[in-house]
Amino acid sequence: MKNYKIAVLAGDGIGPEVMVQALKVLAVVSDQFGFSIQHTEALIGGAAIDATGAALPEATLTLCKNSDAILFGSVGGPKWTSLPPAQQPERASLLPLRKTFDLFCNLRPGQIYPAFAELSPLHPKISSQGMDILCVRELTGGIYFGEKGRTEDAAFDTQKYSVSEIERISRVAFEAATKRRNKVTSIDKANVLATSVLWREVVERVAKDYPQVQLEHMYIDNAAMQLIRAPQHFDVLLCDNLFGDILSDEIAAIAGSLGLLPSASLNGSNFGLYEPAGGTAPDIAGKGIANPIAQILSAALMLRYSFGEEAAARAIEQAVASTLEQGIVTRDINSASNYGTADVGAAVIAALNA
Ligand code: ATP
Ligand code: MG
Repeated sequence: MKNYKIAVLAGDGIGPEVMVQALKVLAVVSDQFGFSIQHTEALIGGAAIDATGAALPEATLTLCKNSDAILFGSVGGPKWTSLPPAQQPERASLLPLRKTFDLFCNLRPGQIYPAFAELSPLHPKISSQGMDILCVRELTGGIYFGEKGRTEDAAFDTQKYSVSEIERISRVAFEAATKRRNKVTSIDKANVLATSVLWREVVERVAKDYPQVQLEHMYIDNAAMQLIRAPQHFDVLLCDNLFGDILSDEIAAIAGSLGLLPSASLNGSNFGLYEPAGGTAPDIAGKGIANPIAQILSAALMLRYSFGEEAAARAIEQAVASTLEQGIVTRDINSASNYGTADVGAAVIAALNA
């Protein structure tokens, strides 16, 4: 029987509450699909600062290095905002993890569940057209990591992309498209940026290896507009770090609930860090009302992208869809609901067992 070792880093705020539900779901699907998951929990973020003085303790890093994937909750919160920027939980834990494991690829699916299309600011139009987008964002290069500087009356940031950086992220996008609707929209600003001209050249070259996938190029400004006008137009979006940062948040806003959206950050050898797109939600932490779906769907992404357990991943996604259709949702989805975090987790498990 296949055995996968995962590092469980629940973190702060609602992280620990929603993580409990994701782990229960993983235990059920691993039984059903004939693999085992050995999970070990470790400290990260603000909780780790309080206990050890470091946001990413050595023991946590060692655990991650000895694991096949990281299931991550969320880090940070009001308690730690007075720390210097470099010691803030997110900067001092998540960024070093991305760097250590070369997690160059960020995947953010954004979809509309028909039963809850009214959560979208594009309702009612979006109810008939739908949206099902996978945003593929380059995560370790570009303007965020280029040379920067500041004099008294000026400042600069530089953007640099190499052929190999563009090529590896492009391959992820095209591979993903073959498992979806065979369409890639590559985002750039090739009319003004040198990096975008190179981006286009490399994407065109990679596209030749995927003749079944339709490729289109779109300027970032136009893409931001088309996402609002016609979100159903898109399948896979291929973006650099900056454009992907912006568009993935736009897609989340169109989808309407942070509590439903998972994300994956991958390297070139199937190792990944999986986390909800939302944060620590300090306003509702500890109340048992956080939506566990984003964390549960993050676990599904882990099964798909790190372990290749596609059938188990789909089973979780279907169980989530069925739970939503039954109206078993937390208050962020339906303000009149009396269901809490544990109820939603139990409903997903019941749907898996049905
Ligand atoms: P952080 O700095 O960790 O991102 P934040 O204050 O920005 O914290 P988010 O976690 O990004 O808060 O959440 C933004 C809003 O969405 C909050 O009102 C929060 O309650 C809500 N939210 C986010 N995730 C969930 C969830 N899983 N369930 C319910 N509500 C959520
Ligand atoms: Mg936030």
